[in-house]
Amino acid sequence: MITTSIQPLEAPSPAYICPLDQACSYLEAAARELKLDQGLLQVLSHPRKVVTVSIPVKRDNGEIEILAGHRVQHCDVLGPYKGGIRYHPAVTLREVSALAMLMTWKCALLGIPYGGAKGGIALDPKRYSVSELERLTRRYTSELIKDIGPSVDIPAPDMGTSAREMAWMMDTYSVNVGHAVPGVVTGKPLSIGGSLGREMATGRGVMIIVREALADQGKSLADMRVVIQGFGNVGSAAALLMHEAGAKVIAVSTGSGGVYSETGLDIPALKAYAAENRRSVVGFPQAIPINNAELLTLPCDVLIPAALENQITEENVNQVQAKIVAEAANGPVTLIANQSLEARGVTVLPDILANAGGVVVSYLEWVQGLSYLFWDEERVNRELEHLMVQAYRQVINHSKTRQIPLRLAAYTLGVGRVAQALTDRGLYP
Ligand code: NAD
Repeated sequence: MITTSIQPLEAPSPAYICPLDQACSYLEAAARELKLDQGLLQVLSHPRKVVTVSIPVKRDNGEIEILAGHRVQHCDVLGPYKGGIRYHPAVTLREVSALAMLMTWKCALLGIPYGGAKGGIALDPKRYSVSELERLTRRYTSELIKDIGPSVDIPAPDMGTSAREMAWMMDTYSVNVGHAVPGVVTGKPLSIGGSLGREMATGRGVMIIVREALADQGKSLADMRVVIQGFGNVGSAAALLMHEAGAKVIAVSTGSGGVYSETGLDIPALKAYAAENRRSVVGFPQAIPINNAELLTLPCDVLIPAALENQITEENVNQVQAKIVAEAANGPVTLIANQSLEARGVTVLPDILANAGGVVVSYLEWVQGLSYLFWDEERVNRELEHLMVQAYRQVINHSKTRQIPLRLAAYTLGVGRVAQALTDRGLYP
């Protein structure tokens, strides 16, 4: 029998919470608040371009496997498309479409001249060798060659990808067009035009937004009890920066389980341990093992989901004890759980604000590349700090003026700016 990895558009199971439905619900709420024209809402609800490609990859044992790769370009009214590439078994077209839409609002909220896009391949990167990953990344890139480019669509790392995959993408694109094009991707290695500060940028942005939210409550990061789900690029950087600012990071987890210490984990030692143990924190000495379900409901001041969507749901939201939830991942709190947290007075720092540090420094990397002038890390971090704090203030002020929750305030600002640009540009033809 012939099998195919192209997934159906339908939800995989009845319990599945569709990220695209959730993204559209948030868009509709923002549209109601903005009293947006129904026609404009229709335009903004639909991605402009959806590309699905088959990726034949030769495994090291000689067998050929076909993977499904997607790239969704949501809206380029403000500038070129921008968004990460995700390698994860749960990648679906609907998930990628939702994430592309979030990118549009995120860039607009931060005042960055990009539109939203997202890409992904449904695969578990741990099951592939480095040379297999290189082959499939290069094939995926070449399938998308006409759809990406430094002024068209600029991919970046996301879950399961890193600077290494961006280097392969940049090289494949450059070889195909006949000259080096560093600006086709961001989050690439420093040796080929990456930016200082990019690796820590999303985690740094999370730290800045949490710090500002605490300051508004008359508190500081010092001695705050912080719990982080996910210890990859974003989670580990946020953990390290919070630890350096004096917070007690009492628990962190990876896909294979987590660790807990009442007195606070030694984050630099934990990072070194994860680097030597296939990115897992399980078995870290001087800590108690904990599973992901327990981790989310620990008593703490700040909970940072930095892994996947739909982690805080109707099922576990009543057990969440954090006073602040900072969405480092995209969509980790479901719509219903979000309403419940807001009703209980928990401060929910929404993804399009809290995790925007990555796209901000991607933008700074792109600007440096286009101007052939590279900055020191201090300057990159200063620009990041400025844009993050500015966006945070705008969201807080809008929330207060309109008496609406932070998420709705953030969405209203992002969606409103895109809708205004669309109105000013007009509809072609
Ligand atoms: P990553 O692949 O570097 O790390 C993901 C982490 O989550 C790993 O530690 C992994 O073990 C863990 N994880 C996976 N499944 C899990 C599960 N079921 N329970 C607990 N932990 C689990 O990915 P990343 O780049 O850190 O991205 C994490 C999230 O942040 C994603 O939602 C991504 O979209 C979002 N994000 C990333 C960036 C960026 O710059 N990388 C920017 C904005 C948003």
